[in-house]
Amino acid sequence: MSDMLLIGLYALVAGGVVGAAGAVALRLLRHRSILIHVVVLLAITVAAVAAGVAAVARAMFLSAHDLRVVLVTVSASALVSLTVGVIFGRRLAASAVWAQEARERERRLESGRRELVAWVSHDLRTPLAGLRAMAEALEDGVVGDPATVGEYHRRIRVGADRMTQLVDDLFELSRINAGALRLALTVVPLHEVVSDALAGVAPLAASRRITLTAPESGWPPVRAGERELARVVSNLLVNAVRYTPEDGTVQVDAGREGADVWLAVSDTCGGIPDDDLHRVFDVAFRGERSRTPETGAGGGLGLAIVRGLVEAHGGRVQVLNRGRGCRFEVRLPAA
Ligand code: ADP
Repeated sequence: MSDMLLIGLYALVAGGVVGAAGAVALRLLRHRSILIHVVVLLAITVAAVAAGVAAVARAMFLSAHDLRVVLVTVSASALVSLTVGVIFGRRLAASAVWAQEARERERRLESGRRELVAWVSHDLRTPLAGLRAMAEALEDGVVGDPATVGEYHRRIRVGADRMTQLVDDLFELSRINAGALRLALTVVPLHEVVSDALAGVAPLAASRRITLTAPESGWPPVRAGERELARVVSNLLVNAVRYTPEDGTVQVDAGREGADVWLAVSDTCGGIPDDDLHRVFDVAFRGERSRTPETGAGGGLGLAIVRGLVEAHGGRVQVLNRGRGCRFEVRLPAA
């Protein structure tokens, strides 16, 4: 019995030394991946067994041959457990990453929802109050002369149009945020989408004497949802025209780079303040200029929609100041 105790003690001490070294190694590796942790953990276990066996074998004066037999057996088990460890460690790592991504996505959705609710309560109430005040003034006969009545009617219609646009944007954004966007991906001729968007924005550009330019050829095809791509291009173009002072220029270019197609809308808006550059894609962000109603201020949702739609395609969008204005660049997977 005392032999057994002694053997147990030998194994415990040898395994303990390996275990302690392993604990130090795991601590040093604490920022590494789950897979590395699992493999190191199994390696420690196997090494502790091997150390215990070797210590006991030496103490018992086993022959060199018998010791080799024992060690070969332990090594075979080590191989099996490490292989199993690598396979399951990988799966474990993949599901941990997936869970982390899901948590991150959920966190983003939640903050998007909160921003939207804050936006709705703030930005829809004010114009609604204005519409109501004008409607009441008309109803009560507070304004009577035909010119003022006509002006009130016009302002009510413009206000209603703007609210319709806002509600439309809000709906689009909530669809994106809720992950409810279903893209019907097809090979879209970029040139046609840009031509349509240019035609749509032409009257606004003409009213501000802004020149629109785009190359005639060299447009790469892109794999995208046609409606969503049209929305992206149109939002960028409308913004470029709205925020460019009169007599400016707005230019659209596109090209191919590696596996990406890029589309750039450049303007002569005078540049976006550096502090605002990383915020323009945030929900409800509006720069100073846009807060003055004369510029036809939007709801601060246009670029958030652009980013949501581009990212839903697996692409990305960025803005930088370049020359006399800024350049919005969209990258999408090529067709
Ligand atoms: P909105 O135009 O309705 O305010 P957006 O999300 O489309 O909302 O744009 C957010 C802000 O980014 C704008 O208020 C404006 O300050 C700035 N911005 C967007 N596009 C441009 C542009 N082409 N040139 C300069 N500033 C821009």
